[in-house]
Amino acid sequence: MNKLLIFFIDAFAYDYLEKTNFLSDLNFDVSPLETLLGYSSSIMPSIWSGRYPEETGVWTEFYHHKRKPYTSLKMIGKIPDYYLRNGIKYFFLRLFQKTHNYDQTLLGIPESIEHLFCRNNINYWIFPPVKLSCDSFDKFMKKKNISYDFDFHAYAVPQFLFPSSSQSRISSNVFIRYIATLDACGHLYGPKPRFFKDQLQDIEHLILTSYRMLSKTSDVDLVIFSDHGMTNVTKQYNLLEKLDNFTIKKDYLVFVDSTIARFWFFNVNAKAQIIQILEQCTYGHILNNAEIESYGLRFTDNRYGDLIFVADPGVEFFPSFMRPIRFPFIGTDPKGLHGYTPEHPSTRGVFMYCGNKDLKLSNTMKITDIYQKLKLLIIS
Ligand SMILES: [Zn+2]
Repeated sequence: MNKLLIFFIDAFAYDYLEKTNFLSDLNFDVSPLETLLGYSSSIMPSIWSGRYPEETGVWTEFYHHKRKPYTSLKMIGKIPDYYLRNGIKYFFLRLFQKTHNYDQTLLGIPESIEHLFCRNNINYWIFPPVKLSCDSFDKFMKKKNISYDFDFHAYAVPQFLFPSSSQSRISSNVFIRYIATLDACGHLYGPKPRFFKDQLQDIEHLILTSYRMLSKTSDVDLVIFSDHGMTNVTKQYNLLEKLDNFTIKKDYLVFVDSTIARFWFFNVNAKAQIIQILEQCTYGHILNNAEIESYGLRFTDNRYGDLIFVADPGVEFFPSFMRPIRFPFIGTDPKGLHGYTPEHPSTRGVFMYCGNKDLKLSNTMKITDIYQKLKLLIIS
């Protein structure tokens, strides 16, 4: 087989190709890539297995499952002032989550319900990022006795490809490089690549250098793909405020991500009233059965929610469990977000191939198609 060089560029939107000359020196077959409803936690397992979330069992990072509460968070939860409480919690979690403590929770999950959620064990910086029970690319390569080498970096630094200290890695057949820079840029600046030209150039440089380096000694198949696009944020909507008249844990439970809110209900009347509120909301919609089926979200239990409410493209649920508060001096409101229904053009990722095979790319390529293309490159 040829050497296979894979660059997984988080949040590289298809639209960026029209706005830049990205890698115009190389000859690529290019396809827009329809993403999945969800975040990287949902999309990565589907990329590496070719299966939908209902088959991998992994969708959102957090799911409803009762566990032992964190007692320290209970105490922090007693601080009456909202801003002080969240400020202390922010520094507490930052300190301890680095050592993998308190990693079953998140800053914005209210202390009274934090023990009702667990986190899928996803580590974006390793490969595979999560252990799957189904077939997956790592298992396929092992079965075929193909050596591979993975690296993750938040930035596209040159030594990222082949660190001189580990020359033996160059003998691998497959190189997988995961670059997360553009996701942060898209959130910060919105989907406007003119504001992150330098980062794009660094990535181009990294890809070209590594492609040329490998090409000196082998035939190379170069594949570049992303997991989703980026949508311009135009509106913040306070969904939690609309639920003030209901009692959490008694009437309902909710997990509010920045663009997706998932509900569980314990009271028929409250359920009917909350559904009415959501149906009247003009900033999002409740997923219907056809959507749940087409996005591959027919789970056999309700750990990911009884009802899913998705923000319209450009709307951010704020406050959310991801971002409960605007901290002075720390971070800003995002100008770009992802996690909307995949029909909107801004959500499209990209798939690019440079090599001598015919991958038969189409304009309707989906996240779950990537795996078959990679397999084809390995077995041909
Ligand atoms: Zn992101």
